[in-house]
Order: sequence, then structure tokens, then C-alpha cells
Amino acid sequence: MDLFPVLKELHQKSPRKILLVVLDGVGGLPPESGGPTELEAARTPNLDRLAVESALGLLTPVYPGLTPGSGPGHLALFGYDPFRYVVGRGALSALGLGVDFREGDVALRGNFATLGPDGQVLDRRAGRPSTEENQRVVAKLQEAIPRIEDVEVYFYTESEHRFLVVLRGEGLGDGITDSDPQKTGLPPLKAQALDEASRKTARIVNLLSERIQEVLKDEPGINGALFRGASRRPSFPSMAEVYGLKAAAIASYPMYKGLAALVGMEVLPVEGEGDAHEGKLKALQENWERYDFFYLHFKKTDAKGEDGDFWGKVAEIERFDALLPEILRLDPDILAITGDHSTPALLKGHSWHPVPLLLKAPYLRKDGALRFTEGEAAKGSLGHLRGVELMPLLLAHAGRLLKYGA
Ligand code: ZN
Repeated sequence: MDLFPVLKELHQKSPRKILLVVLDGVGGLPPESGGPTELEAARTPNLDRLAVESALGLLTPVYPGLTPGSGPGHLALFGYDPFRYVVGRGALSALGLGVDFREGDVALRGNFATLGPDGQVLDRRAGRPSTEENQRVVAKLQEAIPRIEDVEVYFYTESEHRFLVVLRGEGLGDGITDSDPQKTGLPPLKAQALDEASRKTARIVNLLSERIQEVLKDEPGINGALFRGASRRPSFPSMAEVYGLKAAAIASYPMYKGLAALVGMEVLPVEGEGDAHEGKLKALQENWERYDFFYLHFKKTDAKGEDGDFWGKVAEIERFDALLPEILRLDPDILAITGDHSTPALLKGHSWHPVPLLLKAPYLRKDGALRFTEGEAAKGSLGHLRGVELMPLLLAHAGRLLKYGA
């Protein structure tokens, strides 16, 4: 159900601040049966102490059994129904690369491909070129194809065979079919408009495919491009509109900043490379008085899980634990710590398993949990929530929701 109309009615001002910490992919699994999960294996004295005075629960990010990408996982944590507020593949790539992507633009994911003499696809990934080779070809295309008709065309390297195109012009819908045939031996497909508003986009994409083949005709490996996932920059209601919150995001990686910007958060600059603990802490401290809500994101827990690096993920959890006392010194009224999905090192990828949730707030029934782990969370008094249910809970604890009904 869409709770936004209700929340719009009920929200009120409050001086209490909410801090939502997302440890990306923090949920895990024991690599061997009976062994500890990453959270259980980590030495986390600060999280343990916090767990004692908090309430715990489990959170299913999107839906039981669904393995979410970070996009839907995060939108759910921000309270946006991930089945209703959908970010297309192209748009998510544009956010991920952090490129100039405006309202009205259409983004498409591209694969560089090798085409045979009759135009059929020989290799959908053009022999997996190096990213440097990709950059060289992208520069060549950008120079040769600045626009098609009145539409500006922007090319961006993603990695290896993957690139991104952003189309900017009037009247571009995103209802078109993919040109990627998804198998070899067939020619690239013609993009077809699925609605009237997208006819121009289909024409531009088909002309673009032809132009790319002309420009690359003498290239040995990369001589064609396949497109999919055409999508416009989505236009979502802001957190200010829906919750009455002045919200800020502290994240290092472009996709998370992009997702936060989509829901109207102000993205604060963070100094430093990688997860930049110092830079994030500084951004939080310096802006603490200026916002009602902070989203603080840490990426490395997920990255290590994706690598299948159990102890690397453990170390990242411990690194966060070491930062926690500095965060607590700000004395957030409402503090939630959770993940946007599980990324068990055992599975080397995202999974459908629920993630643990910790909530510290003034009016709580404490659980007597001794640690922040999946097992303790499963026994917690918050029970088992869906991702989208977190924001109303945080708002309530912050004294930001009026009574519903008489
Ligand atoms: Zn994630």
C-alpha cells in the first residue's frame, strides 16, 4: 500500500534528529554450518554496547525471497515502495557513474560488440576489451557523434565492454525496446517505440546504432553497439514533501549519492577515497545542526561480500565499530543501523536473506540483546519488518507523526 498520502497528512515538526546508518550488504551467512556469520565473527565492542540499550529486529529489504539490487534496497529504506518507485537500468547506471543526467534525459546502457560482415553479432562483449580500450573508443565516438538530429549524445565509459549513453533533447520518452538481441548470430534489433511519446527516441537510437557502426567500421574488435534499459531520470516526491524532513546524505559512491538525490536529500561533500571514514565523520559533525535526517552509507561491507572475502567483510564491520563512538558523541535522538540487503561472502553476491536492524531511541522496549547479529536480531522486539516500514517507525520515534484517526 502507498503510505505517502497518510504520512503527508500526519507529519509534524520535531527537534529530534534521525540518523540512518546503512552498512551495505551487512547481512551474512556462516560459511560452514554451525560457524559464525560475518557479524558474529567480528569483534564489535561498541556495537555490542549499543545493542544492549537498543531494540533489534530483522528487516526484509524488498520482499521475502527477492534478492534486491542496492537501488530498490535503498529506496525501500528511504520509505519509497520499490515496486512503485522504480529506477530503470540506464538511469541507475547514470546515477552510478555520477554523470550529468537531467530531467528529460534518457540514459541507455550499451555493450560494445563485434559484428560480422553481414552485420550479425559475433560477440556481445567485443572480446571483453580493457577499460582503457573502452575509453579510447568512447572518446572517438564522442568526437564523431556529438548529436543525432537535434538530440545531444553523451558517451561514457563504464568498464570493459560496458558504456553508457545519455540523450538530451526535446520529446524523448523512454518506452523503447532493446537493440541487444541477447545472443550471437543475429543482427542487432531495431529499437521499437512502445508508446507515441517514445517514437523519436527509437528513431534516434536506431540512427545512433548506424552512426556508431560507420565510425567504428575499421576497428578490429569493437565495431558495433547494443543498447538496453532506456530510462529517463525518475521524478520522485521528495522527503521534504512526504515526511517534512530536511534530509542529507553522506556517501562516497556515486550511485548512493544519486539515489539520495532522487528522493530530495542534499548530498554533502565527503573528503577522501573509498569509504572515507574520517571524511564522512567530518561531514556529519559539520552539518549536524543543519538537518533533521542523515543517511550515512558505508560500501565496503558489500564489496568484500561480493568478493567472497569473509574476513575482509569482518574487518570492514570492525572498522565501522571503531568509528561508532565518534558518531555516538553527536548523540542522535534516533539511530538506526541496518543494511540495504545481505551480501554473504559465501554467496559472493547479494541475497534475499533479511538484514539485522538496530534502533536506538528514547522510548523503547529493550530486548536484552548483547550483540548486533542476525541471530540476536531475529529474537528482537522490533520483530520482522519490511524495508519500507522502517521510515514510519523512525518518524514515530522522532515524534514526527500525529495520531492517525480519532
Ligand atoms: Zn547494496
